[in-house]
Order: sequence, then C-alpha cells, then structure tokens
Amino acid sequence: MKPKDKRARPRLLNPAAFHLVDALHLDDPLATSLEGDRVLVEEALRRGAGELDLAQRVARRRERALSPPTASSAFGRRGFGLERLRPPDGIGPASMVWEAASAYRETVRQEFTALPDHVRASFAFDKKRSAFDYYLGIRAAYYQAGYDDSAADVFQRIKPAKLLGHDIIGGVHEVFAEQLAGLDRLLDSWSPGLPERIGKEIHQVGGFVPRYIAPKQGEHRGAPVLSNHGFGMAIDIDPGKNPHIKDRDVIEGLKEAIGYDFGATLAQSSRDIPDVDRIAQIHLRAQDASRRLQSWLQQYLPMYREAERTGSIRSSFGDPEIERNMRLLQRIRRFHSLADLESWAKHGIQSIPLYLAAAMAQLKFRWGAAYDHSKDVMHFEIEARERIPPDSKKPRPLDELLRVIAP
Ligand SMILES: [Zn+2]
Repeated sequence: MKPKDKRARPRLLNPAAFHLVDALHLDDPLATSLEGDRVLVEEALRRGAGELDLAQRVARRRERALSPPTASSAFGRRGFGLERLRPPDGIGPASMVWEAASAYRETVRQEFTALPDHVRASFAFDKKRSAFDYYLGIRAAYYQAGYDDSAADVFQRIKPAKLLGHDIIGGVHEVFAEQLAGLDRLLDSWSPGLPERIGKEIHQVGGFVPRYIAPKQGEHRGAPVLSNHGFGMAIDIDPGKNPHIKDRDVIEGLKEAIGYDFGATLAQSSRDIPDVDRIAQIHLRAQDASRRLQSWLQQYLPMYREAERTGSIRSSFGDPEIERNMRLLQRIRRFHSLADLESWAKHGIQSIPLYLAAAMAQLKFRWGAAYDHSKDVMHFEIEARERIPPDSKKPRPLDELLRVIAP
C-alpha cells in the first residue's frame, strides 16, 4: 500500500490508457482509429518522445493503414500528401500530436509547480535547460522505469535531513530519513559523544539529485538507468576525498600501481560473518589501499605534473620504472583531473570513519565500498526499487513503443 491520494493530484490525459498499449497491434481496429493513435501518442509523450518524431511516425502509421502492403508498388505511396491522411474529423497527425503534447506539458507543469521549493531547486543544475524542461525530460525516465506518478512516489516525499549535524544537500526520501534516524543513538550507545566526534570528521554530504547512473567506461548504455540519488535513497560523503573508482583503465592502472583490485570484492559476504564485521574488513582494506595510493602518488605525481606542464609527457623518461609509472598515471588521468589526483595524494581516497561505515551497515544501508565491480566509497544507499516499488514491474522502453507506432 502506498500512502498517497492520486485523486487530489492533476491527472495525466488518459491515466489508464497505457495498459492498452501492450495489447495494440497494427491489425487491431483500435490501432488504426483516431482514438487508438491518440492513446499511443499520449503514452509516447509520457515516455519522453519528441513531438516532431512522433508526428512523423503517426503520419507514416496512417499512410500504412490507408495503403496496406499488398497494394503498395514502387510509386504507390508517392504524392501521398498529409492532406489525404486526415481522418474525417480533420485532425492531422501534426496537430493531434501538438494538442496532446501541450496538454501533457501543462499537466506536468502543474505537477512541477506543486513541488516544494527545495525539491524544485534540485532540477535546476543543468545550465542548458530550465528546471522545468529538465524535469519534463527526466520525468520520462521514471515513467519508463515503471513509476506512473514519480511526483507522488518520490519528489513530494523528499525532505530536508541531517547526517551527524550536517545538512544533507538536496534532502533525502522520507523512507531513507526514517532508516537514518537511529544513527546518532546507535553511535552514542557504542561510545557516548561518538556522533559529535565523527560529525567533526566529515564536511559535506549530498543526497537527492535527479540524475542517471554515472556510466562506466565501455559500458553499453541502453535505456537510461536512474541513480538511487534520483530517489533520494543515497548519500555521498565528502566526494573529493572518496572518489568513485569505476572505469576499467583506472581500475587496471591502480591494480598495477598499488596491487589493489578495485574491480573485485574487497571482502566476500558470508553467512558466518556479521555484516558489520565484513564492513570493518572492507574499511581496513580500503584504508590500506588509500595509503598505498597516497605514497605512490607522492612519489610519481610531481614528476608527472611537471611533464604534463612542459608538454613532454609523451616523450621517453629513460628509466623503465619511471616510464611505466608515468604511463599508468597517464591512463588514470584520462578519467580524473589533475586536481583530483593532487587531492588523492594529499588526503587519500578513503576518509569515511570506521564507526560511521559500521553503524550504516548495522542500519542496513549498502556501502559503495562493498560493490563488487567498482568502489564508490563516498556512497551509502538503499535500493530504491525495493522500498519504493514501481507501479509496473515491466520497464516501458520508448523505442519499442515508437516502433509499434511506425517503424
Ligand atoms: Zn553516490
């Protein structure tokens, strides 16, 4: 059961219509009717289709309906103007799509305007687009992921929150906030005053950001995948000091440089080892990796920086050992700025206090340092789809629907 009242909210054009879409085929009478087209158009808009593409597809769809494949010939479709495709009520594909798109936009605008100010502000980080246009675009990704009403399920439920005295930038989902509520008490039970002491060791905490998952190098990108941050179900602690190590070149470069494989599990989960102990092991290993990386960078980064500054990075360094390390740095450098590397040399790549990682594990948050194929030490999360179940378990890809409308 979801605690929300859908009746009180502005509804989309045809809320039940998308259930029809799976059943629609070109040979269905509904599929070639005006009403059938409208159902498809409304669904495509919710999935983020562009107006022009949609209008062209609807035109092709009607053209096909009027000239079945058996009757087509080499010149059969030529001179088939949009005029002839108008259905009897006179609404051509372009104006039908335009009308549906305006109505959809207006509904979404009302939905956006009704969001709390602090939530609306989170959509304004893209300099090229207005906050509303960004909202309109990313809303389609939630819809494709199965959420009929992302405003009610997610955005309306983003609340301001704190972690050990620090404001969480962007806030978090109320489900996340509830789970986090026991943190101070737990730490205090381990050692009185521990929450305050740990609070002083951290500086910046980020939460809700409506964005996609950061792609890994070489990863195939299909439909957009929303980050748990996009549900307010993740926080990042001091990102500058706890980088996400995810790209293949960086993982392989670091493995060669310091002997740690960030692409493998740091400590296997086992039924015999309590989660908190496993997290403590991971912390120990991440800390060791961080120290080794720091001393490696302190040894080679000054030389690398100088070579990059003088433009001699491609030339030979003579000494094979130096040569090897310069090439490793060059490989890592493609994915991280010089400023990042300098910060890693100074602070390491793991600043999460052990007791914080352990307490978060006890409270059932998943730590990014425990990921199998990458390491995201700054990151603690709850799997959004488990705790905020989508309305449709099946994803609703846009391209599939566009092909149904017209290839
Ligand atoms: Zn994160």
